[in-house]
Amino acid sequence: MNTIEPSFETEAIRTQIEKTQFLEHSSPLYLTSSFVFEDAEDMRASFAEEKQRNIYARFTNPNTSEFVEKICKMEGAEEGYAFATGMSAVFSTFAALLNSGDHIVSSRSVFGSTHTLLTKFLPKWNIETSYFKVNEIEKIESLIQPNTKILYAESPTNPAVDILDLEALGEIAKKHQLLLVIDNCFATPYLQNPIKFGADLVIHSATKLIDGQGRVLGGVVAGKKDLIREIYLFSRNTGPAMSPFNAWVLSKSLETLAVRVDKHCENAIRVAKFLEQHNNVNSVKYPFLKSHPQYKIAKKQMKLGGNIVAFQIKGGVKAGKSFLNAIKMCSLSANLGDTRTIVTHPASTTHSKLSESDRLEVGITDGLVRVSVGLENVDDIINDLKQALG
Ligand SMILES: *Cc1c(COP(=O)(O)O)cnc(C)c1O
Repeated sequence: MNTIEPSFETEAIRTQIEKTQFLEHSSPLYLTSSFVFEDAEDMRASFAEEKQRNIYARFTNPNTSEFVEKICKMEGAEEGYAFATGMSAVFSTFAALLNSGDHIVSSRSVFGSTHTLLTKFLPKWNIETSYFKVNEIEKIESLIQPNTKILYAESPTNPAVDILDLEALGEIAKKHQLLLVIDNCFATPYLQNPIKFGADLVIHSATKLIDGQGRVLGGVVAGKKDLIREIYLFSRNTGPAMSPFNAWVLSKSLETLAVRVDKHCENAIRVAKFLEQHNNVNSVKYPFLKSHPQYKIAKKQMKLGGNIVAFQIKGGVKAGKSFLNAIKMCSLSANLGDTRTIVTHPASTTHSKLSESDRLEVGITDGLVRVSVGLENVDDIINDLKQALG
């Protein structure tokens, strides 16, 4: 059982950078591109990293440091680094840790841009990837090559809400001395801590439930100190750092992460149970529904089921599109993890360029609808879905 430290909520609220002489209660926003030095010796020692201090905001800033410190405490990580977006966190991790000729073994069900990075861009630097399907983790070992360096996965997956067994992935990574990198975006640090199951690095798109209010973009990587050091050096010299403003917003967001995510999950399971008994719905996938194929694994590694519910509408692409057109309150949007409930139909939108067989590989059938359940009154969410289902 994945037990959450009792101090999770307290750490999220009470972790704070040093106060200024004004003794402000809430951390101020530090909008400054650089920091000054006392004298030549102070400057030399700072650049030599003999002291830990802020030099230039492309490297570190008090607001990004506060955000990262909270994430590390929440994930049980040694160190971390914050990025402008989730994708810059993913890219910087690969770029910092891999050499030309290295190989990745990745789950096939990864975020769309991560897939594009693995298939279109990393091969330019002679970094190839082999894929396993979410229900075939026993095949991973046959994909490992002498040059394999990273094992990469997300759980729960987008948009099919499949669950991968993190403990099993941790064991494979350890046995073959691979770095296990987990994109923990859908679970948030509140619901799941991959480091406990053997992950070396955890990545978040902070844009989703961490912000939780659809305002700012952000990303973060947390994990082993020596790996974060390389990722930091890459970022420090290439410039994808998180802006102080976004860090200030996101650090505040973390203070309410636990209460928000609790409520998201409470609403989501109500929505899942409503959909499960509806005549125009073929099947529903939600990690904490007993009917979920990986229900036991979800229960083992997650505190609650998350806020994403996937269901199969009867009637395929046509029915999916009519459903979206009939929606009155919920938003049709590309984001997820917002206070506002969002519905999407991947086969006619985000994944319409894939062939049907490629879509099926990642669990996207023609009738799949994804609901990112928000924080509105759950009866209003259910009533909107009900009237749109007909
Ligand atoms: C959104 C998302 C990302 C990318 O994050 P951005 O902040 O949009 O760059 C990566 N992984 C997952 C699972 C996501 O949902």
